[in-house]
Amino acid sequence: EAYLRRIEQVDPQIRSYLTVTADLALQQAQEADKKLASGEKSPLLGIPMALKDIISTKGIKTTCGSKMLENYIPPYDATVYEKLCAAGCVLLGKLNMDEFAMGSSTENSAYGPTKNPWDLTTVPGGSSGGSASAVAAGEAAFTLGSDTGGSVRQPAALCGVVGLKPTYGRVSRYGLVAFASSLDQIGPITRTVEDLADVLQVIAGYDPKDSTSVPIDVPQYGDALSEDIRGIRIGVPKEYFVEGMEPGVERAVREAIDKLGSLGAKIVDISLPSTDYALATYYIIAPAEASSNLSRYTGVEYGHRAPDAEDIIDMYMKTREEGFGPEVKRRIMLGTYVLSAGYYDAYYLKAQKVRTIIKSEFDAAFKECDVIATPTSPTVAFKLGSKLQDPLSMYLSDLFTIPANMAGIPGLSIPCGFSDDLPVGLQLLGKAFDESTLLKVGYAYQ
Ligand code: GLN
Repeated sequence: EAYLRRIEQVDPQIRSYLTVTADLALQQAQEADKKLASGEKSPLLGIPMALKDIISTKGIKTTCGSKMLENYIPPYDATVYEKLCAAGCVLLGKLNMDEFAMGSSTENSAYGPTKNPWDLTTVPGGSSGGSASAVAAGEAAFTLGSDTGGSVRQPAALCGVVGLKPTYGRVSRYGLVAFASSLDQIGPITRTVEDLADVLQVIAGYDPKDSTSVPIDVPQYGDALSEDIRGIRIGVPKEYFVEGMEPGVERAVREAIDKLGSLGAKIVDISLPSTDYALATYYIIAPAEASSNLSRYTGVEYGHRAPDAEDIIDMYMKTREEGFGPEVKRRIMLGTYVLSAGYYDAYYLKAQKVRTIIKSEFDAAFKECDVIATPTSPTVAFKLGSKLQDPLSMYLSDLFTIPANMAGIPGLSIPCGFSDDLPVGLQLLGKAFDESTLLKVGYAYQ
């Protein structure tokens, strides 16, 4: 009830929520109450949370921030939601996002932008801007987002909260509406690293319904939370401190790395030479996969259907013209182009080769260090509208987060101070399936 009141109070300004499931929340809370009374114990029992509107919830609208899915009600639950329900969580509602998770500011939502609770004239980041702002404004105890190129970590950084992109394959994508399937991963957003460990514990693990989920054991993440990080080697890649990044961001991140050093970690200089190519490579691979994934929105099986079409081709065309926003159309065109006969080898195949090089550079770097520390985003929260006319400057927001998706490795963003009174995020990257070490370093820092 307190969370629902809080949503009523602040969400008219912030607009994190697309749907509030008040009745369901109260009913789930009562069930949790009963379980608590009967002595059942589990860390998430009765905890009120909310989900990015790209995660399928049976009987509850799942719009993906798109007009295309304005009235779409999924007939099944995503595995992560099923697991959270089994753990006793309470669903407060579904959260705003850039359309089909394409964007870095939540301004590409067909339902209007979300505001950053720290300064209502700035963006919360994106595409999981609703998920990050809801946690920052106390509108949910924790949320889930999805991260294809930074969409959990960048908004977490801009809203001053904790966000994790798990290793690709660690968390089931079953019921996550697909953007770029080889990069997409669901991740939690919380206030503290401790909370994050509890949420990850519930959602992680093999799922036979997702052929890319990996059948390996899930450790006890709580066991990793010790303050002793003596001897842990933290690599600082020079390519992540580039010209053009905000001086206040660089200062806060360097201070955070110094603090880790004073806690006993060993700071080592490393190099990831292909970092420069990650962004360009991403904007070939992600749109290519998106153009294929989004071909399902024809107006036939589900979602919007143009009412006055003359024949089936006309129906496809009108439906897609009306249902998709400008950024989604831009990605579909880009993706179709790089996959077309004659350009496939020059763009798509080349991009896949660069992706392999990026991954192998991380593999080599992790021989010299256990964790890599970088800024999460080159800037703090920017003004609403300031990057809307210039897609390329918006794409640059994910300069530092995209490489982890390309390599499939986990990335954690934790708050590390302020620049111009707005929060800065420290990004910690780890070896595949070694979320524990990230949580350990993050916990010691916090
Ligand atoms: N901002 C990036 C994009 O627009 C990443 C989005 C994401 O991680 N979903 O593609």
